[in-house]
Parts: sequence; structure tokens; C-alpha cells
Amino acid sequence: MNSNVHTPMIQQYLKLKSENPDILLFYRMGDFYELFYDDAKRASQLLDISLTKRGYSGGAPIPMAGVPYHCIESYLAKLIKLGESVAICEQVNDIISHKGVVERRITRIVTPGTISDEELLPDRLDNLLAAIFQNQLGFGYATLDISSGRFCLNELTDEMKMAAELHRTDPVELLYPENFQAMQLIEQRHGLRRRPLWEYDIDTASQQLNMQFGTYDLSGFGVHQAYLALRAAGCLLQYVKNTQRSSLPHITSISIERQQDSIMIDTATRRNLEITQNLAGGIENTLITVLDKTVTAMGSRMLKRWLHMPLRNFDIIKQRQQSIRELQIISEDIQSVLHKIVDLERVVARIALRTARPRDLARIRDTFQQLPELHKQLANVEVEQLIDIRLKIGYFHELRALLENAIIECPPALIRDGGVIATGYNTKLDEYRSLANDANSYLKQLEIRERKKLGLDTLKVNFNAVHGYYIQINRAHSHLVPINYIRRQTLKNVERYIIPELKEYENQVINSKNKALALEKNLYDKLFDQFLPYLEALKASAAALAELDVLTNLSERAQILNYCCPILQQDIGIYIKNGRHPVVEQVLKQPFISNSLALSSQNHMLIITGPNMGGKSTYMRQTALIVLMAWIGSYVPAEEMAIGPIDSIFTRIGATDDLASGRSTFMIEMTETANILYNATKNSLVLVDEIGRGTSTYDGLSLAWACAERLAHYIKSMTLFATHYFELTKLPEEIEGILNVHLDVVEHSNGIAFMHSVRTGAASKSYGLAVAALAGIPKEVLKCARYKLKELESLSDSPPVTAQKFINKGSQLSLSVLAKEKILLIKENIEAIDPDNLTPKEALEWIYRLKSLI
Ligand code: ADP
Repeated sequence: MNSNVHTPMIQQYLKLKSENPDILLFYRMGDFYELFYDDAKRASQLLDISLTKRGYSGGAPIPMAGVPYHCIESYLAKLIKLGESVAICEQVNDIISHKGVVERRITRIVTPGTISDEELLPDRLDNLLAAIFQNQLGFGYATLDISSGRFCLNELTDEMKMAAELHRTDPVELLYPENFQAMQLIEQRHGLRRRPLWEYDIDTASQQLNMQFGTYDLSGFGVHQAYLALRAAGCLLQYVKNTQRSSLPHITSISIERQQDSIMIDTATRRNLEITQNLAGGIENTLITVLDKTVTAMGSRMLKRWLHMPLRNFDIIKQRQQSIRELQIISEDIQSVLHKIVDLERVVARIALRTARPRDLARIRDTFQQLPELHKQLANVEVEQLIDIRLKIGYFHELRALLENAIIECPPALIRDGGVIATGYNTKLDEYRSLANDANSYLKQLEIRERKKLGLDTLKVNFNAVHGYYIQINRAHSHLVPINYIRRQTLKNVERYIIPELKEYENQVINSKNKALALEKNLYDKLFDQFLPYLEALKASAAALAELDVLTNLSERAQILNYCCPILQQDIGIYIKNGRHPVVEQVLKQPFISNSLALSSQNHMLIITGPNMGGKSTYMRQTALIVLMAWIGSYVPAEEMAIGPIDSIFTRIGATDDLASGRSTFMIEMTETANILYNATKNSLVLVDEIGRGTSTYDGLSLAWACAERLAHYIKSMTLFATHYFELTKLPEEIEGILNVHLDVVEHSNGIAFMHSVRTGAASKSYGLAVAALAGIPKEVLKCARYKLKELESLSDSPPVTAQKFINKGSQLSLSVLAKEKILLIKENIEAIDPDNLTPKEALEWIYRLKSLI
């Protein structure tokens, strides 16, 4: 395509497009934003808008699609949700250049990870931009929440941990270097952006970050040696600066999250526990739906961060527990004040980015007005954490006074048409406004005067956008019009005139209005400057309010849901008296049967048996959820609980085929199991809900046995191991620290009833056919199954063949490590024999030797 023959407007477009090749370019033309070429085709599909053509340029018609300028936000929201980025190109002024086109410039780049607009952001979810880096030492990772200024680093040693971190933070946009190796970690994600390697340069990173924070080096933040993560942070910061095109004064610090500070939860476990998302991707029946009754959006976001990052620090957790206890009496009062508090965190970010709307300022003013009331309610708190929160919440008297004076009570949505700044705030503004108003009243008088003069009651002074102010007279009376009236417009029944005096006042009105508006915009902009010295304090206040909201919420939940406060202990162990599943107990129509649990370094594994539907999964998951809740500082659904240190939670719970990655259920099961066997320690909580079911019975049982043995004997993790292989119930006889428990069932004439209560000892049988009957398997099929079962059992001695065989096989397995070496030795010896060249004496000696080896 020869660009020389393009029209000047399209040439200008192509130049701007070449600077933003990968993202959609919204090109302002009058009242529309237009997209051209491939952008137009893509946008028409994504937004469901019609694809048209625009004249010929460059020898062919140009595909084009457009959206009206005034509803751009809703289109942006849709594109952002789809992970798209958009460059917005505006007409900068109306001056036509020598080439005959209006000057245009890209004023804003909107990307999913860098938005701060209220309309585009989900209010109760964090919206993170992330950058990843990888070399032979591992992974560097940086995340930024631009709508709060939270900037975090992390360094991960292997892919499993990196996957877990990606899953935990779940960024909406992810920057990765062009030479990134572990593509399988990220390729399924939305909002991927490939970046040139030089953006990850370590020197540039340090320089950029220091410039941002106004520091000489990064040691003050304790991140100066996190080279991998800093590279990612450098790339991220450059990207944000490029998209925002304004300064970022609210991004003032950076911190590093250390692995050893929090409980590790791998990807599969986070998914299986359904913390904030259920397995189907929704939020129904998740832990968060039970626990989140926070009243502010920032509190809700903080609670989700807590739940996704249980801590290992006793002191922090103790403080939270004490705060929850202390807040119990005042939780309701505090919540009623918090209700009137704005999403301060995000409003402050918008003020820093100078994109705050008039209503943001009005709401932050209303929030400041609530702070004294909160202080009153927190006046007598004694827990250190709450005192700290109260101090950080602050008062902001000066800002409050400023906004009370500057902004009218209920300002319009946009500053565009003015009417935001209050009377009395600025004398010049008041002057312009009254000039405009005076002119208005003058025009009213003029109307009365001319009516009288001409004796026409129907004479009117009016205004329209095309002709400005005019005098309108019925056509029937036009012969009465004096000579100084100049005709401007003739309509069906009326004539419209102007007179010089009218024009003079019109100028005055328009002038004063324009001046007032320009001044108002200027004053509005200056308000942002006055916030700058307070940004740090405002951020701290927002965080304190969010924390107060979370703690008050946990306090309210504990009371309403009848939770208890866990006792923290230094020894390894988990003790739960009459624990409940926090979610199942809420959705169940029948009463929930509570169950107890005790794990310690002496008794660290439970083999759980019982029929399908007996309650095994519920029991295991409730244990994990209770542990997780305890380590965010929450009270827990139990009568009593004591808990020691935990370093990680692992689960191996029912998987489904991952068709996208081509892995079968069995493959996924084994990958998850391998991960546990490599990473679990004696401080880990491990839940295994069936293992080895996707292969033949012998393979499966052998695997299950070997895994259980490994966990119990070598790793000594705190393990709940549910299984249908009865053979595993023999494990406690062979290995110390294992106990059998089972889910109770009562048999009656019509079948069985599940008691859902956990009892010591192994289940007596499997009840597979009874459960199948409950599920509605046809009677004839069941009859046939019963017959077949009898036949199989009669083929063996009693007990049934499978069980007996495996018990024997199982014992062998437990000795397998020692036996293996011996078997190898015997094999080697036998292989060395050449039977054709043996004397009878030598043969006899061999027999003795082999026997001695056994
Ligand atoms: P399993 O894993 O043994 O097949 P589940 O844990 O999936 O059994 O439980 C099956 C159903 O039984 C649950 O959906 C729930 O409705 C009910 N249930 C489980 N545990 C309890 C309990 N402790 N109290 C009341 N109902 C329970």
C-alpha cells in the first residue's frame, strides 16, 4: 500500500497507529471515535457494532467502525473485560494544520491492569497489573494495584511456586519478556503483553524505581537484593508510566513478600478449597460468601487478600484475635458508620492521578465528616492494633474544611459543564457568575421594556445555540417592528430579530460564562495539588479503615455464626472440638453434624474410610478451611480449637480431566500427588481424598499404599487420607502415628442411613451397592451386582480375595526399600550362573548361597 496517496487524515492516523500497533486505536472525529482497518474488524466483532467503509484512500476502501463519544465508557468497559487495551486519540484543538487536518494526540491508553475509573473497575475485587521475569535462578514477579498504589515483589524458586503465586494474585494483565521460557505457566491467561527484553534491564529498573520513590537506593524498602523481582518491577513501572501519561504520586513504596511469612497454598489446593471462587468459576457456596459481610468495598478486597494469604506470624494473628474480641460489643455501631464511608483507597488514587470526579470529592468530604464519630467509638479500645488503626484513621481537618468550602453539596457527575465549585470559595468566580446572572436579569428587563414600547405582549427574548439571543415576534405583527431591529430568521408563524444592545449583553453573558467555566476547571485542578502533601496519610487512613472493616466483620461473623477463638500453640498439632464446615453448615437444610479431630506429631495421620456420601470430603475440607481461617486471625466454626505452626496446606481432591492441556484425570492426580510428596513437611497439612482410582485396582492400591506410607513414615505431615481401599486400614498396625477413623452408617430394613459422624476404627464394609440403590440404580442391575459380588467372594477364601491379597502385598510394600536391594543381589547372582558348566557340587553350593541371601 502506498501511503503517499492516503488522505492527510489517514496519514495522520497511520502514524499514530504505527506507534501503537498491538492495541485498538480509538480515533476521535467530531462526535465519534472511529476505528480503521483491522482494528475496525476486530472491534466490530468484540463490541457488536457495524462495520462500514470509508471512501477510498491508498487505492482501496477502508474498513471502519465507530462509537459515539459520549458513551465511550461502556464500550471501554466491555473491551477491558475481554482483556483488550485501547489507545484514545483526541482532537487536541480545532486548529486546522497546514495539511488540512485537526491536530490529534493520544491522550490516554486504557489497559485492563492500569485502569482507575470507577465505572471500569469491579469494586470488591483487586485489579492487578503484573510483570514476570525468569532466568536460571528462578522467577521474579512484581504486582501493582494502581487503584491503591500497592506495589509488591516476590521471588519464586520453581514453577510450582510461580504457578501458585499467579493463581493467588490473579492479575488481569501480565507483562512477560520476549525470551520467557515457562510459557505453559501463563499461556492460558487473559491480558498477556509481550515486552522487549531491554525493559527488564536491572540498572534501568533501579533508576526508574528510585526516581519514582525519590530515593537514592532501594535498601530502605529491603528489596535491593531482589534482582529478579526488581527487573520485573522496572518493566512494570515503565509500562504504567507510558499508559498513564501522568505522574503517579501515590506509588510511594515497594515491598517484598517473603515465602516464609505465609502459609503456602498451591494452585490445586486454592482451587479445591473454593475460597473466593467455586470449581465452576462462580462465587456460590464459597468461603467468602459466608465470611464477607464487610460494609466497604476496600474492606472486602482486604479480606480476600487475607484469605488468600494466611500468615505464620503468631503476634499478628494474636493481635487480630484480640481485636475481634474487643470489637464484639461495638461491631454494630462501627459498621453503621463504615456504611457512610467511601472507597477511600480508590478515590485517593484517582485524586493522585488527577482523574477524580466531582462526586469523588463530595464523597471524600462526607467521609471526613464521619471520622470524628469513628474516633468516638474507638476511644476506649485497648488492643494495640485497634489503637494503631485509630491513629492512622486520622481526622483530616484541613482537607475537610477545604472541600466543605470548595465543593457544592451535590455536585454534577462531571466538571465539564461547571457548577461544581461552591459560591464563596473564589471571589473572581463569584464575580463572573454574577455578571452572567446580571446579564440574564438584564435580558428579562429588556423583554419587558420592548413589549411595552411596541405594545406587543407576545414579544419574547429567547436563546438558541445557533443564533444566540434574539427577539421573537409573531409574523402578523412584523409591520410594527422598529427600524433598529435586524431580521435573523423567519419561521412559519414568527420572525426573529436582533438588536445591537442584545448582542452586547449576549457577549457579556457568554464571556462571563466561559470565563467562569475556565476558572472553575482551573480551581478544580488546583484542589488536587492541595491533596498532594496528604497522600501518604490518606493511604494509611484508607488501609486502617479497611482493616477496621475486616476485623469488625470477622467479629460480627464470629458472633452470628457461633465461632470460637483458636488457641495458638508452638507444638505441631491441630485439635478441633466439634468442628463444622463453614459453608456446608450454611447451605444444609438438615442440622450439620459436628466432628472433632486431633493431629499431633505422635498421631499425624488419619486413614478415613466410610461409604460414598458418608461425609469424608466434608470432614477433610472443613479441617483445611478451619486451619486457614485460624491463620488469618478469624474465629472458627468449632467449639474449641488449638493449633500449632503450619507451613503449607496441600490437597489431592477429586480432579476432572483437563482437556485443554491434554492431561487425563489420572495424570492430574499423579502430578498433584508428586507435588505433595516433594514439598510437604512435618508442618504441612495434607488432605488426600482417594488416590490411584484412575488405574487398575492393583496399580491403584499399590500407589495409594506407597504414598500413605511415604507421608506417614518419612515426611510425617499432618495427613487426612480418605480411601476406598480397605487394605489401607492395616497401615496403623505397621507404622506408628496412624489412626483409623470412619464415617458412621446405620443399616435398616430399607437400606442405610448416613450419620455423618466420625468414629474411631475402620469402616466395617463399603456399602457400595447400598449407596448405588439410594442413587436409583435399577433393581435388576443391583440384583445382578449382588450376585456377581457373591460369586467373586466365593472364588476366594474368606476374607474376600482382593482384601487378603492386598494386605499381604501391602506388608511387602512396606518392606520394599530393604527388600529391593536384596532382590537385586539375588538377581545378579543368578544371572552369573552358567548351568551348562556347573558340576553337581558347584550347583549344590549355589543353592546354599542363594538360600543364605534370602
Ligand atoms: P463423601 O466424601 O464421603 O462421599 P461428602 O463429604 O461429599 O461425602 O458428603 C456428602 C453429603 O453429605 C454432603 O454434601 C452433605 O450434604 C452431607 N454431609 C456431609 N457431612 C455432613 C455433616 N457433618 N453433617 C451433615 N451433613 C453432612
